Amino acid sequence: MACQKDHSAIQRIMSDLPTDQGGRGRHKCAACAYEKGFAEGRELEENIDLSSLFYSLEDSQAGAQRHKSPHAAYAKGYLDGVQSYYEDR
Ligand SMILES: [Zn+2]
Repeated sequence: MACQKDHSAIQRIMSDLPTDQGGRGRHKCAACAYEKGFAEGRELEENIDLSSLFYSLEDSQAGAQRHKSPHAAYAKGYLDGVQSYYEDR
């Protein structure tokens, strides 16, 4: 089932991510991967399990996140989350 969340706020971030050319994450929602990465980065989470995360993600919806790399999306989200953590201190 395709993701039903509102990802309108992060479309510009999504459009800058590399396209995933048929990798295992290709049909997964990269926007959700970004948001999960952001949340974990903000917590400075150190035990990261991308395999389990990608397995649990919904399929991609239309929009800038379509066919984007969930690996890149998670990493970008994680970095943005870590920066947010320090900016708020
Ligand atoms: Zn999503």
